[in-house]
Amino acid sequence: MKKKLLSGIQPSGTIHIGNYFGAIKQFVDLQDNYDSFVFIADLHAITTIQNKEDLSKNILDVALDYLACGLDPEKVCLFKQSDLAEVTELAWYFNCITTMPYLERATAYKDAHMKTKEVNIGLFDYPILMAADILIQDADVVPVGADQKQHVEYARDTAQKFNKIYGETFKLPEPLILKNVAIVPGIDGRKMSKSYKNTIPLFGTDEEIKKAVMRIVTDSKGTDEPKDPDTCNIFALHKLFLKEDALKILHDKYTKGGLSYKESKEMLLLEILNLVKPMREKREMYAKDLDKVRNILKNGAKKAKTIALEKMNIIRDKVGVKI
Ligand code: ATP
Ligand code: MG
Repeated sequence: MKKKLLSGIQPSGTIHIGNYFGAIKQFVDLQDNYDSFVFIADLHAITTIQNKEDLSKNILDVALDYLACGLDPEKVCLFKQSDLAEVTELAWYFNCITTMPYLERATAYKDAHMKTKEVNIGLFDYPILMAADILIQDADVVPVGADQKQHVEYARDTAQKFNKIYGETFKLPEPLILKNVAIVPGIDGRKMSKSYKNTIPLFGTDEEIKKAVMRIVTDSKGTDEPKDPDTCNIFALHKLFLKEDALKILHDKYTKGGLSYKESKEMLLLEILNLVKPMREKREMYAKDLDKVRNILKNGAKKAKTIALEKMNIIRDKVGVKI
């Protein structure tokens, strides 16, 4: 029996190359080896997107992005989180065994709280909804970027807590994080994030991608000066695309001097466009047949919901609401 993989992306904005290398590429590479479930985390996105048109457009966009990047609906169960209301029911049971100080330790919450004291409860509770997504499907592995490691740990903790109170019910999921990707930096050097507006959009036009690449922040060293590849945001992005020998050559050019940041950006732009071009064609093909895409999500939801309902039947019994 294949192990079960589950992961998702929020339709909280336009997918970027951090999402691709940290998450989607892993889903594609692993789809033959795992019983895979990949969803669109639309309930999570409502913590930041509270506009009907934007949310529904983003949901379809993420579905197109998944398909364009190579997820095969014959191999992967693709679905939309909001089609499984059971997830929110399970999140409630988890909320009742979770303390506020424990959730206050989540890095994503702390970051949001630093920016605004008025963090909404949905965002505060994000790790618990995510725990429900993962645990309701009995997932073994959760491929994510390094920024989500702590949230997978929250899911493990929550499973353990529930098991201790109500008896053995949930498996403990493992995160799958690619070491050489970890956290892809955005054009301002912080984590590339849809909500930070510091992204290089995966499916932007050539012009949009170029604009983002040219805005990558660097120090002010001139062409001839030696440069430090290890602190350069452009170099960090080259690492995602170049093989070891090409990367070594570039590393030497940095340390010797003679290569301008502009030239390094132009090289990076070509690397990105080469990756994106074939995927873009596939995306355009699916975009012409949105009913087909909706159908893929509908069939996926049917399958994921069957599993969720079976699991909820056990959970309701353990909690005591089934009489
Ligand atoms: P938001 O800003 O709304 O949180 P995001 O850009 O962080 O959006 P998510 O939908 O939260 O994207 O994350 C989807 C997946 O992409 C997760 O597995 C996450 O770990 C991964 N991911 C997001 N940003 C990066 C990044 N900069 N580097 C590597 N992986 C990333
Ligand atoms: Mg995020």
